[in-house]
Amino acid sequence: MSDSPQLVDRFGRVISYLRISVTDRCDFRCVYCMDEEMQFIPRSELLSYEEITRIATAFSDLGVSKIRITGGEPLTRHGIESLFIQLGQLENVKDLTLTTNGSQLARYAQKLKHAGVTRINISLDTLKTERFKALTRTGKLQQTLDGIDVALACGFNKLKLNAVIMRDSNDDEVNALVDYAIAKEMDISFIEEMPLGEIAHDRALSFYSSNDVLEEIQKEKQLQAVPEKTGGPSRYYQIDNTNTRIGLISPHSHNFCDDCNRVRLTSEGLLLLCLGQEHSIDLRQILRDGASNDELRQAIINSMQIKPKGHDFNLKAQPIILRHMSATGG
Ligand code: SAM
Ligand code: SF4
Repeated sequence: MSDSPQLVDRFGRVISYLRISVTDRCDFRCVYCMDEEMQFIPRSELLSYEEITRIATAFSDLGVSKIRITGGEPLTRHGIESLFIQLGQLENVKDLTLTTNGSQLARYAQKLKHAGVTRINISLDTLKTERFKALTRTGKLQQTLDGIDVALACGFNKLKLNAVIMRDSNDDEVNALVDYAIAKEMDISFIEEMPLGEIAHDRALSFYSSNDVLEEIQKEKQLQAVPEKTGGPSRYYQIDNTNTRIGLISPHSHNFCDDCNRVRLTSEGLLLLCLGQEHSIDLRQILRDGASNDELRQAIINSMQIKPKGHDFNLKAQPIILRHMSATGG
């Protein structure tokens, strides 16, 4: 394969990053992500591990260097370890990463390290046992904290926490979460709640902006902006005299689409060209119609022509996107 980037969209953006949702199911029901009662995709409609590996291989051949496995909760899908082993062998993929709620991490961390996973993002929105139960509806805080400790002991390049902050819910814990990250020498990103899917609360009321998070942290810590472009919606700050960086992920307040470098594969095989729009192609259909590897690569190259210029999130017109984050792969 040629070394030059082959996945370039109409706006000249090079796509180097693929996020793969391996399941829409989860052992938690976080209030901002899911409804209490969810209809999940029948298992027969999920991409098999062989199909995911074929698609990931095509992306690797086309120059994609970073893959993130997400969901739903990826570590709840049976036999997931075998997928990591396959993806860990892809030639061009230098960064194989995972986003997880941490509930199964104590069991899996070492195996993931062996398979070639480089980095893990772990979601943690609160350090209070009862609040964790309320926010996740089914989760146990201690299980996630234990998972974090086991992963830390395995020596991954970088472990990062992800926290969604909601007004009048966990907005009083911003600095407690930062202190926890500092104590564990982890980075921490704060994500603004996105209007993906119908849920039980009014997102316009719970919305808490990244700027508010930043102000809260600056009351206690000295921060230095880090001039780093990731092709994503994050701004980074180093906390003085620590090994911890703060990330602020703000799809509403800061337009990041101009540098977008990513596409998403849903668990049922839709290639989504934008998190906040519906433009997609059905790679499962293409595979099940018997496409050769050349045809699969060509379909992916062609899809670049329908990647939209940007998203159009609007909290007042919610939900503009009917997919929950768990179906898309956050
Ligand atoms: N289950 C895993 C986890 O929680 O880390 C991976 C999937 S989850 C959908 C990925 C990330 O999306 C998590 O950090 C979660 O907090 C975030 N998330 C879920 N729904 C969201 C929403 N509506 N707005 C912003 N972030 C959301
Ligand atoms: Fe599950 Fe992650 Fe969604 Fe929480 S955010 S319900 S852990 S998929």
